[in-house]
Amino acid sequence: MAFSAESASGEERAETEESLLATTGAGRGAGNGGEVSHEEWQRWGMSSPLPSSVAAVIRELLKMEAATGEKMRFGGVGSKLKGDFKDMEDKKHRAVYETLRDSDQKLQYFSARQIGCRLLGSRGYLCQKCWLPTEDCMCANVVTCNLWRGMKFWLYMHPKDFLRQNNTGKLLWQVFGIQAAQLCLFGIQEHEDIMWDAFQRSGNGKISVLYPNKSAIPKSVKDLKFNGSSLTSDVHEVSSQDEPFNFILLDGTWSNSAALYRRLKERWTVISGDEDIPCISLSTLTASVMHKLRPQPAWDRTCTAAAAAGLLWELNLRPELRTYEFEKQAEAVECSLDILLDALTTRRVRLGRSITRKQRHNRNCLL
Ligand SMILES: [Zn+2]
Repeated sequence: MAFSAESASGEERAETEESLLATTGAGRGAGNGGEVSHEEWQRWGMSSPLPSSVAAVIRELLKMEAATGEKMRFGGVGSKLKGDFKDMEDKKHRAVYETLRDSDQKLQYFSARQIGCRLLGSRGYLCQKCWLPTEDCMCANVVTCNLWRGMKFWLYMHPKDFLRQNNTGKLLWQVFGIQAAQLCLFGIQEHEDIMWDAFQRSGNGKISVLYPNKSAIPKSVKDLKFNGSSLTSDVHEVSSQDEPFNFILLDGTWSNSAALYRRLKERWTVISGDEDIPCISLSTLTASVMHKLRPQPAWDRTCTAAAAAGLLWELNLRPELRTYEFEKQAEAVECSLDILLDALTTRRVRLGRSITRKQRHNRNCLL
C-alpha cells in the first residue's frame, strides 16, 4: 500500500496541539535503561505479548547506546529522541529503511520504531494506565462499567497516537477493560493478526468500521440487524451467535485515519473478495439528541471516545436493545472524557499555559 511516514497537514496540526498539551519534557531519560519486559508492555494496556518488531527496535537502540557511550534522551512531542544520540540513530534507521524491500515492510518498521521510542521515552514518566504524567494521573477518578457482551470495540491506533496524553481511545479500555475495548496498533503484525483472527471467529457479518460511509449504500446504526440476542450487519453472512459484534474505531488524526482505513480495506478485500469493508457512520439525529442531553459539551463529539459514546447513544435509541443499558455505558465514556479534559486543563494551568484552546480540542477527528 502507499504509505508515507512523513507528516501531512493534519498530523502537523496534531503535533502542534500535542506540543501545547505535552510537558516540555526536555532531557527526559530512558528511565532504568533496560529492555522492555512482557510485563512492562502489558501494564501499558496490552493483552498481547511484546511484539517481536518492537523488541528488536528497542534492543538495537540499547545496543547503540552501549556502543557509543552516548545516553539516549527523549523529550517533547511523542517522546522523540533528542541530542547527539538522535543524530546517530537518524542515520542508522534511515539506512535500515533503505534496505527494506516493500512498502509494507517499511510501514511495519516505521510503526515498531515509533512505538519502541515511545515506550523508552515514557518510562517512569507517564502513568501506564491513563498515559498522563504520573503527577496528573486520573486513574482514581475513572468509573468502570461493563460493555454489553454482545459487542466489542477495537481501537485501531496509529503509532503516533500511542502513549499520547490527549489520546481519547485509551479511555475506552480504562472504562470497559482491555478485553471489551482492545488496542490494535497499526502496522504491528501480531496485533493485526489477533484482530483479524477475532473477525474470522465472529464472521463477516459482525464487523463494522465507524467511518464516514465510503460504500455505495450508506449505513448507520439503524441498519444493523438484531435477531433477539446478537447484532449483525448482514443477515446473508455466516456469523457466530456467541461472538461479539466488532466495532472498529480508527484512532488517529484525520489524515492518519485514511491510512488506517485503507489498510483495513485491503486486508478485508484479500480475505472476503469484497471491495468494501462494512462501514457505519453516526447519524445527525444523534448529534441533536446528544446536544439536548449535554447543552455545553466540553468535547467535540468527533474525538474517538466521543464517537464511541455517540454509537452507544444510537444503540440506546433502538427499543429492542433497551435492556442492555447503553445509556449507562455512553455516560460512563462521556464521564471519562470530562475527567481527562479536567486533568489536562489542571496540568496546563499548573504549567502556566493558556487553557483557551480546550474547546478546540479536535484531535482524532473521525466523523
Ligand atoms: Zn493513571
